Amino acid sequence: MITLMLVEGINKAAFEQALEEVAFALKSVPFFSEYLFEQGLRPTDVRDTTGFAAIRPTTKIEYRRNFPRGVLAAGKTLNDPHILTSKSSGTGGERLTTVTHTFLLARRARNTLRANKPLLEALTAPRFQSVARYAPPNCSDVECATPFSTMEDRMLADGTLVLPVSHDLLATPPAMVNQAIDEIDKLQPHWLYVDPTHLAFLIRSMGDRGLSDVGAVVLTYTLCTGVARRQICASFEPTTPMAEIVSMSEFGWLAIECPVGNMHINNLDFFLEFWSGSRPTRPGELGELLVTSLGDRLLPHIRYRTGDIYRLGEHSCACKSTLPIVRHEGRLPNMLKFKTPRGLELLSPRDVSDLIGQAEGIDLYRLDQRSDGGLQLRYVGDADPDSLEVGDIVDRLRGRMPANEKIEVKKTHQIECGRSGKFVSCSSEIALELDDIRTASSD
Ligand SMILES: [Zn+2]
Repeated sequence: MITLMLVEGINKAAFEQALEEVAFALKSVPFFSEYLFEQGLRPTDVRDTTGFAAIRPTTKIEYRRNFPRGVLAAGKTLNDPHILTSKSSGTGGERLTTVTHTFLLARRARNTLRANKPLLEALTAPRFQSVARYAPPNCSDVECATPFSTMEDRMLADGTLVLPVSHDLLATPPAMVNQAIDEIDKLQPHWLYVDPTHLAFLIRSMGDRGLSDVGAVVLTYTLCTGVARRQICASFEPTTPMAEIVSMSEFGWLAIECPVGNMHINNLDFFLEFWSGSRPTRPGELGELLVTSLGDRLLPHIRYRTGDIYRLGEHSCACKSTLPIVRHEGRLPNMLKFKTPRGLELLSPRDVSDLIGQAEGIDLYRLDQRSDGGLQLRYVGDADPDSLEVGDIVDRLRGRMPANEKIEVKKTHQIECGRSGKFVSCSSEIALELDDIRTASSD
């Protein structure tokens, strides 16, 4: 019998709602009723954890192929009120369009913020809040994030100004960087909603023109590396509420870093599952997150494969949040993979960030694993490749890899962004099946 392994035990209330979500989707979502029928599942089969786990996980491909008619609930249209349309960045292939009720997104953000009270208070002050967004253009929700548009063109309905940004961050022309800085001066945003690598770039470009008046900082879109965090933290008062959050275009806010520095995941608005290949993930292990939306009567998601890998927490957090602890490790294609006598071992983008640390002499880096297994670390910064600092970093990385691994180090001025415009700090050309995770984490 398959028993669902859920973080910190089964969240019974969420599971009951997940069963309701399945019942709703069966009745109202054409794609889903066909999907279950094809698998030979009847509605009466999905009444407990075993029946639920028998539903084959859904993927981005199915939601993209069936959008909008097949995945929208009966009677709903894209022109209904209180709907936000968002597009994925295209990191994992073609871009996916999702629509969500704005009140549901607000509830998810608020419940996620439960694990970070200082940020919750800063972001939900009872007054108008202006927000500046600096992020990869595909993620910015406006197609006009170019310098030729005006501030008004790039102002979203909720008071968010999308700053102009180049597709390839480091190749951003100085005039466009200055425009972004001038617009921040003009707007005086209450808080920033930014990609950490992008913000660190902006900070380096600002020189003495600081951001000290900003009341809070939300770091999202891509993993916040230690070197980006060092530069960001140096630009704000230590008391400025700031946190890394995991947000997905399909769901909105999903996980948040608490004031202690652990990440907590929202198990109030989502039914969460973690799977290591064909078996549920155990505490301390790596697993892929599957999400079932709760109470989504517009475009419900059932057992949706996020492609994001988390390590499940083993202990409770000193912040006392009841939301479970997880560590967001990154996406599977970005994990470094090593074959060892003990099986396949993985080094995640988060692991790499921890090993590189705050590295004063490095502004930005990218570690690539080629298909032949060779590794290359490129970086931008003052540190000399022969310096003790860089030597120590390479030693730490090699300490987590098999003995024969070679790392080529290259200092450079330009590191390209990914196809989606996101800056990837770690990537691997070695493809990996999910089942391999089981090998990697079963010792
Ligand atoms: Zn905590």
